[in-house]
Amino acid sequence: MGLFRKKAQPLEVARIGNPVLRQKADLVDPRSIGGDDLAQLVDEMIATMDAEGGIGIAAPQVSRSISLAVIEIPVDSARYPDSEPFELEVFINPSITILDEQEQEYWEGCLSVPDLRGLVPRPRKVQVDYLALDGDSRSIVAEGFLATVLQHELDHLDGVLFIDRMRDMTKLATLEEYRTYWLDSTDAPSLDD
Ligand code: ZN
Repeated sequence: MGLFRKKAQPLEVARIGNPVLRQKADLVDPRSIGGDDLAQLVDEMIATMDAEGGIGIAAPQVSRSISLAVIEIPVDSARYPDSEPFELEVFINPSITILDEQEQEYWEGCLSVPDLRGLVPRPRKVQVDYLALDGDSRSIVAEGFLATVLQHELDHLDGVLFIDRMRDMTKLATLEEYRTYWLDSTDAPSLDD
């Protein structure tokens, strides 16, 4: 979508226990869209996502409680070899609609919940309506992995973490134990964001 990757400094990531992760984010003021301050924050969020190796990041994860998230699933992702790539996109004031209640499961991780993976059931198909960085209204319909990534990121805007969505806490593991006991024994790929 023609977003530049400007040089920006990564921001500190808020970790679980920080109350900012549990707040409902405020809507982004439409008057700030297209402005330098918002663009700067987006650049810093992208730099943070890159530095931490994530495929998405929400503003509350950098201690800004506003309704803003960024997602990018790289083409050549060694970590997510089965996933369709998704070009860098900025989601401002997104709203989500579940299009198919049938659930799918992926192992999720989160920059704000370091060193853990958990198997999370979520609806398999969603629609997200949002404003892009240029202020345009956009809509996306997503299934599979991208549907889970979108739900994970947008949950951050409601103060919800992936562990809240888990139903079987025996499927919560440290990264090391995940690799030892679960990685080869499950069809569900994992994501980190
Ligand atoms: Zn997360």
